[in-house]
Amino acid sequence: MYNPFSWLRSVLRITLFFVVVIIIGLIVDRLILAVALGAMWLLAVQFWQMYRLNQWLWRSKRMTPPRSKGFWEHIYEGVYYLQRRHRRKRKELSKIVKRFREGAEALPDAAVVVDSESAIVWCNRLARIELGLRWPQDAGRRIDNLIRHPKFIEYFNSDQYSQPIEVPSPTNVQKTFEYRIKPYGEQHLLIMARDVTRLTQLEQTRKDFVANVSHELRTPLTVLNGYLEMLQVSEQVPPELFSKAMTEMSIQSVRMQGLVEQLLILSRIEASSERVFENRVDVPQMLAIIETEALTLNQEKHHTIEFDVDSDLRVYGSDTELRSAFSNLIFNAIHYTPDGGNIRVSWQRQGHRAKFCVADNGDGIAAKHINRLTERFYRVDKARSRKTGGSGLGLAIVKHVLSHHNSKLEIKSQVGKGSEFFFYFSEELCIDKNHPEDEDMHLQ
Ligand code: ADP
Repeated sequence: MYNPFSWLRSVLRITLFFVVVIIIGLIVDRLILAVALGAMWLLAVQFWQMYRLNQWLWRSKRMTPPRSKGFWEHIYEGVYYLQRRHRRKRKELSKIVKRFREGAEALPDAAVVVDSESAIVWCNRLARIELGLRWPQDAGRRIDNLIRHPKFIEYFNSDQYSQPIEVPSPTNVQKTFEYRIKPYGEQHLLIMARDVTRLTQLEQTRKDFVANVSHELRTPLTVLNGYLEMLQVSEQVPPELFSKAMTEMSIQSVRMQGLVEQLLILSRIEASSERVFENRVDVPQMLAIIETEALTLNQEKHHTIEFDVDSDLRVYGSDTELRSAFSNLIFNAIHYTPDGGNIRVSWQRQGHRAKFCVADNGDGIAAKHINRLTERFYRVDKARSRKTGGSGLGLAIVKHVLSHHNSKLEIKSQVGKGSEFFFYFSEELCIDKNHPEDEDMHLQ
């Protein structure tokens, strides 16, 4: 049982010890020698206790202190108490650190902590995956030796961290990361990297789109302005020049109107939240109307156009969107096939699916263009496409419509032989007149 320390008790003990020593000294008539021996004994005992304390602190693996009495018992217990308190604190701290690390691992961004020497102190799992850091091998290495992009190094050394920067990923150049640096504590820096690839791509697409639209609109506007200026300055315009100006101006304004209409259709389709799977579309009837329009358009081209339509094959979908997709593909075939060509439009069942196909025997398209045809404003031959009044948006509209109907445009083409544009509608979208229960099933 541990007794609390008492100065009085300690002084009494020493006094008692020396009283006994003095009595013995008087009995043996050697008082000085007895007192000296007594003091030496006391000293030796203190040294022995110091030796034990030292052994326990530095050598022994035992947690509990050696047994002792009096003053030394108090010192041992004090050290033991401090050790236990320290251990408890350490446990609490390591729990806090563990919880903090778990939180930091769950961050949606890559995070790296560096010290005042730019050496890595810690990084989370995303930093290992996205920034290619290795843990623990890279602990203590300078961050600017591992992320070496000049833009990052300039930002890191600038001490101006109010704005983030965008830098390609060190592991994958296709990816872009937004880096933010936050100084904290004793000259430590927290570096956060977020994957902003999608955002930058969207931003780029938006910029390209605005640039393309402006470019496309500027050309007809320049022509219109040119003619208007000419008509204003010259008082007597020869009649043949006047009629040429009028024709050209009307062509350009029709072109601009077409472009704006196509843009509106495209943005409407993109923003549409129409539930395509609830609305029935009578495709055979729709194709019959488009056929009449195609024949009118074909008057100058003299193609042979053949429609092969399954009159019972209807689908679920968006009426306006599908009309736009079908007519874009059919009118393209008429526009891009040299006079007197053959065009075949078919709408038939293929297995459980429905297939729409427009085939022509025109000039065909070189393989390198095929993957890019559905990009907005992409045209194989800009000059020729402009002559036909093409805006380069037709196939982009088709692509969006089809993706809205869970389908995809496929293109097969051979230069000099012709092209085939086709797509399939899945079984779930098809309604068969011969199987009315099909209709009921879909409508449930
Ligand atoms: P446009 O409004 O210019 O017709 P589209 O997006 O409809 O734009 O078509 C993109 C390009 O694809 C066209 O400029 C044309 O070069 C090519 N193209 C489309 N359909 C055909 C086809 N049937 N035969 C050959 N080329 C075609």
